[in-house]
Amino acid sequence: MPLSPLATSFPATQGVLGAEPLAPFPDPHRHDPELERFLHDASSQLCRWLGSASATSPLPGLSVLPAVEPEPTGLTPDRLLADLQLVMEGAYNPGHPGAIAHLDPPPLAASVAADLICAGLNNNLLAEELSPSLSRLERSLCGWLAERLGLPAGAGGVAASGGSLSNLMALVVARHHRGLLERRDAVVVASEEAHVSLAKALVVMGLPPSALVAVPTDAGGRLDAAALDLVLSDLERAGRPVIAVVATAGTTVRGAVDPLPEVATLCRRHGHWLHVDGAIGAVFALAPAHAGRVEGLGLADSLTVNPQKLLGITKTSSLLLLARPALLLDTFHTGLPYMELSWGGGHGGETGLQGTRPAEILKLWLGLRQLGETGIAALIQGAIERRRHLERLLCPLADLELVQGSLHLLAFRPAGLSPEVSERWSQDTRQALLARQLMLSRPLYRGHHHLKAVLGNPHTAQAELAAVAEVVGRSLPSP
Ligand SMILES: *Cc1c(COP(=O)(O)O)cnc(C)c1O
Repeated sequence: MPLSPLATSFPATQGVLGAEPLAPFPDPHRHDPELERFLHDASSQLCRWLGSASATSPLPGLSVLPAVEPEPTGLTPDRLLADLQLVMEGAYNPGHPGAIAHLDPPPLAASVAADLICAGLNNNLLAEELSPSLSRLERSLCGWLAERLGLPAGAGGVAASGGSLSNLMALVVARHHRGLLERRDAVVVASEEAHVSLAKALVVMGLPPSALVAVPTDAGGRLDAAALDLVLSDLERAGRPVIAVVATAGTTVRGAVDPLPEVATLCRRHGHWLHVDGAIGAVFALAPAHAGRVEGLGLADSLTVNPQKLLGITKTSSLLLLARPALLLDTFHTGLPYMELSWGGGHGGETGLQGTRPAEILKLWLGLRQLGETGIAALIQGAIERRRHLERLLCPLADLELVQGSLHLLAFRPAGLSPEVSERWSQDTRQALLARQLMLSRPLYRGHHHLKAVLGNPHTAQAELAAVAEVVGRSLPSP
């Protein structure tokens, strides 16, 4: 392939305007037709990419990248778009119907538009004087969503760039609130299948890896409440303070939901903070028919929600919600001495770890408004139905061990193979699936490599699921 910096496949309408350099900053005195045309052409290019998703592969091969360094003089709009096109051609393709490997669905339309507007507004959630309407929007939407998910009246929170950051902030708030900042022997208690971001949070918090106390899970991958009770009693006897108990609503490999009501009862009895990592599962509470899958979410002191996952809000979109949101300000308040006072209960830069941050709330707000209650419920219903359908197709395959929870994830592997043989099986089968434009992931779970499907892609139809079952069926050692 020639390493040309110009995309040969780029079909943009080349015109006089596109060949002239663009004003570096939008003109504040007049509507700038060149800027408008540039954004229009960029958006056409994006729409062509989105609209041809099924014609390529979920995972494109290595592509030619344009030059990385600026040229001596600036590029024209046509060149800029041509360079962009090259990068787009090598991008992961979440809209492909066979893209079912990860928690990365196609982008919700309204959230794409809101992301563009967000960039154009270029406000800063650091401080209210830099984002007057958007700060209020964030506070209001966090409050609404917190209550909608079952947290008590007055609950609220803050947006964060990803669930890892939401989990970290939750643990930092819990430690602060419980007065454990100086305690090097403090621990976080979570199931052995909890997300890796908890281990990273401890690194940031200056705690050793041993500060993450793992509670065993049951056969379904759910935290074992009786074992948690024993662990908490042991810690009490040993005089080890607990920063928080973390329950997971939707584990990353199989979508298992810990028994939240029981864990909450234990937390009350032992006097502990309950953080629920609902990065995957919390949104299920938005669909009345499926809220029972995450029963007890509202009993959390803090809750991580990732609308960037199943709901398709463009990345990143995560929220940390708290029953008592004032604790955010208690923890992160520094007094931003260079800003006017907040008029609404704390600047964004004082209610979380991040300083400057974009108004990620805009695309969540607009996305939820686009979907409406019925659209949200339909997304969740569709994901559950696809998981059930794939399960029905795989169930009859002899010797295939299915590993699932109650959400839209399904992992599997042939039973009775050694770890080495299951690893080879997972590699070979993933390749065979990719050859049919079907992308699954290959998590290592309980000592064995599995294949995993995340059924959150609304474009995945029965034909793709049938093809998955066919390839998997052929991959199995014949009896
Ligand atoms: C995805 C995920 C996270 C982390 O979210 P990021 O946005 O990737 O940082 C945390 N917990 C669970 C259970 C997850 O699945």
